[in-house]
Amino acid sequence: MIDERGLGWLLPTGVGLALTSLAGLVYVAFAPAPGRSTTRATAETGALAASDSARAKTVSDGAAAKATGSSPATAVIDVAAVQRLEGFLQRFEPEAEAAGVSRATFQAFARGLQPDPEVLTLSTTQPEIVSAPWDYLARLVTPARIEGGRLHLARLAGRISIIEARYGVDRHVLTAIWGIESNYGSRQGERSVARSLATLAASDPRRGAFWKSELLQALLILERGETTSDRLVGSWAGAMGHTQFMPSTFAAHAVDFDRDGRRDIWSSAEDGLASAANFLKASGWRTGLPWGFEVVLPGTLDPGKLPLDRSEPFTTWLSLGIRPARLRPPPPEAATFDLILPGGITGPAFLVSRNFTALLRYNNSSAYVLAVGHLADRIAGEEGFVGRWPEEERMLKTEGVLELQRQLTALGFDTGAADGIVGSRTRAAARAYQSSRGLAADGFVTERLLERVRGDRAP
Ligand code: CA
Repeated sequence: MIDERGLGWLLPTGVGLALTSLAGLVYVAFAPAPGRSTTRATAETGALAASDSARAKTVSDGAAAKATGSSPATAVIDVAAVQRLEGFLQRFEPEAEAAGVSRATFQAFARGLQPDPEVLTLSTTQPEIVSAPWDYLARLVTPARIEGGRLHLARLAGRISIIEARYGVDRHVLTAIWGIESNYGSRQGERSVARSLATLAASDPRRGAFWKSELLQALLILERGETTSDRLVGSWAGAMGHTQFMPSTFAAHAVDFDRDGRRDIWSSAEDGLASAANFLKASGWRTGLPWGFEVVLPGTLDPGKLPLDRSEPFTTWLSLGIRPARLRPPPPEAATFDLILPGGITGPAFLVSRNFTALLRYNNSSAYVLAVGHLADRIAGEEGFVGRWPEEERMLKTEGVLELQRQLTALGFDTGAADGIVGSRTRAAARAYQSSRGLAADGFVTERLLERVRGDRAP
């Protein structure tokens, strides 16, 4: 079962967000995480992300954007922010020292430290945009990134082969992560990670504990001498290096693959790629299993009868008339797959494996994982999708999702709490509603569905 709760939908994120609740959701929530600006901040982390998809999104969808959370911070010296940071550092120092950060390291970090006003701005003004899956994919899987992946893979073929053999993780997937996270190392982010994380820890009450814990790990990197403070840089939310690891992920999973004595994910692409492979291996990656593949549904299929809420062996999907969109070797018999319909019943459909789930540990967003998987396939020489996206459909913004949830619940299709997030219960309720009204029960939450529900409610 694929459970990703729609978090980090907008932006590729750094690893290590600990968003690992993988139970209970049905289906892919191709939706944003409304109001979760800090999650998104972390998400945005992907330096690559920040510069690439996030900004592209902001520009292209800006008109529809709505700021989340509190009012945007201004990019000037903010006395209150300075005071918050000072107070935070005073409280944090004994904790950090108890956890192994020496006084010298702490003071070198804290002396004269000012909050980063741009980080405050970025963390509070992430636009509330709901991208359609096809728009999101088009931004991340570009011709330039496909070509770049092929070139970098060819350039590093010998080393990546060794990484692939050692960790059992597919080279194309590793290359795709590299391309999406940092544009093959060219967009890693240049901000002081410790300063950004301290700014966030002091200013973000909702996720203060998360930022503080990441800050502690960043200081421990300095304490261990793994890099220097001027080189401990990354995105505004603290994701670092070629593969955009958060400090805690670095601590747990980074490796010194090139054996120069340092886990250097900032300047060694090999260290970065091997670290990502090591992380995926620890996240349950199974060697030789595809992340997933596009399938074609039979025209007569009733989506209401599809087991969209559970993993099934490939043979079960075959028995329903579902076929791979392209000729491919059959997957391992023991493997199970989930069917996902990110564009509803008329859009491209995919069977995804437990490696899809492993990739969700990198960034808990099905759209992100689909982008990684598709870019990997394209780098490997595959063509684009066979299915066509329903580009005429419009996604709901948060307030639309809230309205849909209230209306469906009022009609007797319980969505659980109205939280503005399209999760498993909302999808299940949407499917039940669609089924009861003779509509294709694919749980695809769109403006069209909301309009239909509104019509139902009209006297
Ligand atoms: Ca190294």
